Amino acid sequence: MKLFAPPAYAHGDRLETAGHVLRLSVNARARRISLRVDRTRREVIATAPTARRLGEAVAFARERIGWISEQLADLPAPRAIAPGMTIDLFGETFSLVGRPGRARLDLEARTLGAADDAAFADRALRLIKAEAKRRFTLMTQDYAATLQRPAPSVSVVDPRGRWGSCSPARPGRPASIRYSWRLALAPLAVADYVVAHECAHLVEANHSPRFWALVDRIFGDPAPHREWLRAHGAGLHAFGR
Ligand SMILES: [Zn+2]
Repeated sequence: MKLFAPPAYAHGDRLETAGHVLRLSVNARARRISLRVDRTRREVIATAPTARRLGEAVAFARERIGWISEQLADLPAPRAIAPGMTIDLFGETFSLVGRPGRARLDLEARTLGAADDAAFADRALRLIKAEAKRRFTLMTQDYAATLQRPAPSVSVVDPRGRWGSCSPARPGRPASIRYSWRLALAPLAVADYVVAHECAHLVEANHSPRFWALVDRIFGDPAPHREWLRAHGAGLHAFGR
């Protein structure tokens, strides 16, 4: 006889439920079973305090399929990258143009060209990321100069939960800032705010009142831009999916 049967579900499991993805999560601090929508991943998360109660969490979610469908229907539609689509990069409009045998980012002509259809999305993404890195590097250098700090190294990544992050300088290594390349698709002022925010961390590696006072001094009021990201962040994550 098995005294301790292993739980049927584990933290991180993903189940298909009525056409939606249900992700299971164990959180020892959770007092009860709960459901929430991860708008970035377009998944529903069922949380239970222990792995043993995940079965209950799954049943709870299955009883609330109607609510789940409503929440997910509210999300921005995925925007697959295709020739002929128009995108805004740092506030300027570009057409994505397929051009047999060639692939280039033509900023003057406001077109992004790529080779054949199969490679089109990959190529367009690479060009967008390269442009994002170029622009974020310049913007970062400006704020670092304003703050009289050495320019950090800049990279672009695609995290789900944050728009930027800053690692302080260590002996022999400059500070480094990582930005979500998807910010290139946001209004320029929003991208600018995130750059100012991360650069302010070069001086204040925290979110103290001193940090926010510094953001206000070098950038201005962050509130409308933080609000924009809360309201439209899922739309940035819907691009290219
Ligand atoms: Zn921060």
